[in-house]
Amino acid sequence: MNVVVVGYGMAGSRLAAELRDRGPHIKVTVLGAEPHRAYNRIMLSSVLAGKVRERDVEITEAAGHGIDLRPGVAVTAIDRAARTVTTDAGDRIEYHHLVLATGSRALIPPLSGLDREHLPERVAVFRTLDDCRRILATASGARTALVLGGGLLGLEAARGLAARGIATEVVHAVGHLMERQLDPAASAVLVRTLSSLGIAAHLDAMAASVAADADGVTLGLADGRELRADLLVVACGVRPETGLATDAGLAVERGVVVDDHMRTSDRHISAIGDCAQHEGVVSGLVAPAWEQARIVARVLGGEDPFAKYRPLPVVTRLKAAGIDLAAMGTSAPVEGAEELSFADPARGTYAKLTIVGERLTGAIMLGDNPSVGAVIQLFDRGTPVPTDRRALLLGRAIGVPATTQAESPALMPDAATVCQCNTVSKGALVRCWRAGARSVDDVVAATRATTGCGTCRDAVEGIVDWLSTVDSSASEVAA
Ligand SMILES: Cc1cc2nc3c(=O)[nH]c(=O)nc-3n(C[C@H](O)[C@H](O)[C@H](O)COP(=O)(O)OP(=O)(O)OC[C@H]3O[C@@H](n4cnc5c(N)ncnc54)[C@H](O)[C@@H]3O)c2cc1C
Repeated sequence: MNVVVVGYGMAGSRLAAELRDRGPHIKVTVLGAEPHRAYNRIMLSSVLAGKVRERDVEITEAAGHGIDLRPGVAVTAIDRAARTVTTDAGDRIEYHHLVLATGSRALIPPLSGLDREHLPERVAVFRTLDDCRRILATASGARTALVLGGGLLGLEAARGLAARGIATEVVHAVGHLMERQLDPAASAVLVRTLSSLGIAAHLDAMAASVAADADGVTLGLADGRELRADLLVVACGVRPETGLATDAGLAVERGVVVDDHMRTSDRHISAIGDCAQHEGVVSGLVAPAWEQARIVARVLGGEDPFAKYRPLPVVTRLKAAGIDLAAMGTSAPVEGAEELSFADPARGTYAKLTIVGERLTGAIMLGDNPSVGAVIQLFDRGTPVPTDRRALLLGRAIGVPATTQAESPALMPDAATVCQCNTVSKGALVRCWRAGARSVDDVVAATRATTGCGTCRDAVEGIVDWLSTVDSSASEVAA
């Protein structure tokens, strides 16, 4: 079978590796518009902050033998009747099955002075490695920066710039930051924490115009104010890249519409990742993208032709040094829900739990809180919350079974998800150890844990340490 994947990003590269692992009977060709090999897009925030180098974020799992990888090749059209795609070089490539993994593109708001085709000098979006390079090139001589957009991406960009000693201001149209994940009280604590890190926030601030010249960039606000800086990063969200699918006559709403097997309205074409819309949802996150890649590989590889994608609960974490933030479920008030919250703005701490019928349906954990692991587990697994809610909210470790369970690998349930991006449980790590893995690198190679956002690295190291201790105690007993 000849499978052509359009898009050599996080979903496309994972699918290629999954298909290759299922045997040589599937010939895989990956066509990617970006000139580079696939890279861990999530880690661009860390590249911007100077915490990791470009070469450390390259995704190598699809490289090597068995896959025809073609970076720098954009697909311009799909001929569904002939089952071919046409590339920007004019080549026609045949497929038995086509997979669209075209991701998203940065949204550029309709502001006067902001041409979406040619961004002015000193203005950049933040989606690709080239965007990141552009920001860094301008930032190298900059003392001040503006970030338009106070969502997850905007705040990660702002933190990265501030970490380089650049005085940074975030301009957000809504009255509180990260409004999809946070409530106003959490945002107020976050604003204070950001301020201590050299980042100012302008809320309820609607941008109206952009004017850039060789000396700087001016952001005009609807209320008449003008903000000026050496650099402007536009982080106003993303839109699924659906142009090819629309032109080919596939069903497209916000994303390319897919069924439970990730098939589009043409059974010879699938869609995965940021460009796909499943049950009305375009996820925009890597965990669903990688799970969708696995489903398509199982279907096409013949392992399970009826494999179905089932979305899992999503936990959002901010990857910004000096800010610990995990948010999950809904942040909006839920009728009849039990809501508990605690705020200590001076220490940058805020915790909120939303409980419906003894189950955690949402939580915000901002700042240092030892129970974050327990809260994520309860949310993930849908198990009843402990009767001592205060302990869970405040993370008091003594005498609190749930918290203790989360922090000690020995007591953590096997089903607990350790790596959210790759959906790897503690049990999977233990099985891997029993099968012969003896180091963090071994378990990472076998399970892919830590290879997404990387925030589970400490937890994986803790479990491997614990397993090696258990092993050595057992050998001592045997001796
Ligand atoms: C800075 C940053 C931080 C992020 N942090 C997180 C995080 O912490 N957690 C999380 O879950 N997600 C995060 N995300 C989102 C995550 O990166 C995406 O969900 C993920 O990349 C989706 O993978 P994808 O393959 O669908 O899309 P992409 O990785 O965007 O890949 C799509 C690829 O398709 C290519 N393409 C498009 N059209 C064509 C065409 N016609 N022909 C050929 N190639 C084409 C594109 O050039 C691109 O290379 C972050 C994103 C950014 C930018």
